[in-house]
Amino acid sequence: MSRVCQYKTGDKPGRGSYTCCNCGFCLKLGADDKMPPCPNCNNTTFTKA
Ligand SMILES: [Zn+2]
Repeated sequence: MSRVCQYKTGDKPGRGSYTCCNCGFCLKLGADDKMPPCPNCNNTTFTKA
């Protein structure tokens, strides 16, 4: 099963948990938060956790 990295830095995907596609870091965003680069590895693609 492959994960689709459909969320990118700068997107506002809405409230929820997102996982970095590079290192697996779990990021929590609020309803109006912009996706930052991964705080752990600086990757810019994420998938919904
Ligand atoms: Zn990462």
